[in-house]
Amino acid sequence: MRYRLPAVLAVAGMLAGCAAPGDTGGVLRTLDPRLATAGDPGCREASLVSTGGVAPRRTTLAIRWTGFGNFELAYNGWVVLVDAYFDRGSLFPPLGFSAADVKRADAILLGHGHTDHISDAVSVGKRTGALVVGAPVTAEALFAQGLEARQVRTVTGRGGETFTVGPMSIEPILGRHGEPPKEVAAAFQKTLRSLTPAPSAEQLAEQKSIRSRGVNDPRVLAEGTIAYLITLDNGFRIMVRDSGGHVTDYEKAVMARIGGVDVALVAVSASYLQSLTVDQALEHMRAYKPDVYIPAHHDGALNNLWRPTEPLFQAMKAENPRLVTVSRGYREPVCFNTEVNRQRRVDGK
Ligand SMILES: [Zn+2]
Repeated sequence: MRYRLPAVLAVAGMLAGCAAPGDTGGVLRTLDPRLATAGDPGCREASLVSTGGVAPRRTTLAIRWTGFGNFELAYNGWVVLVDAYFDRGSLFPPLGFSAADVKRADAILLGHGHTDHISDAVSVGKRTGALVVGAPVTAEALFAQGLEARQVRTVTGRGGETFTVGPMSIEPILGRHGEPPKEVAAAFQKTLRSLTPAPSAEQLAEQKSIRSRGVNDPRVLAEGTIAYLITLDNGFRIMVRDSGGHVTDYEKAVMARIGGVDVALVAVSASYLQSLTVDQALEHMRAYKPDVYIPAHHDGALNNLWRPTEPLFQAMKAENPRLVTVSRGYREPVCFNTEVNRQRRVDGK
């Protein structure tokens, strides 16, 4: 039986982007999560805190997506980055900043070691002094590029590895990388190549250099992809998942323990066909039970396709009409008043 909040708190919860239980205001549930924190100077600009932007007030969580699986989470004076793939090269739309601009981070949580998730992890790690976290196969790449062991936390996601970064408790959970059908991906890629100009020699060299900073290892699939459950000091929960693969037993066990999360940041699968990407997104929604779903890894190179998010949103809402979905442009803030969260609501604390 869920704890029933006083009406004012229930409304605050909805404004904060948390689809509150109960019987009030279906319209309010879909409001922009930022409205609860509209006066917060840390929620006005499309500028990362890590590149010099304004930090949000103490209880506000500011989440900014910066392409692929990259996110910045700023909370109570602390900055956590998820993935670090910023200097993508001229084949990609610009993010509005470069890796060299990232000067402040307390931790970098790497979901997996593929180039498009870690290519700037070492340079940003060295500049900021951030703790860099990843699976063993990811850590090997970091060490090979000269990041010192004392700055790296290697995690398997198999339990007992929870650590803290300031006011955030972070639990690594072994996930699984996406496995898009090879024949579907090959057919789309072949068609796209036939319709678009070939990259120049300079662009190919640029991509080769970027690729050299990632890992290409079969271990990434089943033992190199880490989801992170981040719990703030007031109970607000965030699930981060940077590859659109199947939910693992490790993830299911954690979710059986905690029930659901306030926000899920989840990669859209790379399967091109909506029938496939929708199925995968539904699996994620059913597992993580988020109040708010924010997609990731849905942008693409200039001559590739972005992964459509609206079909996912629609399918998820058909199953869970209370779900709030949010997708913004690069660096635009999505802010939450974290004082209102599922744990407080459900547990009545
Ligand atoms: Zn990958």
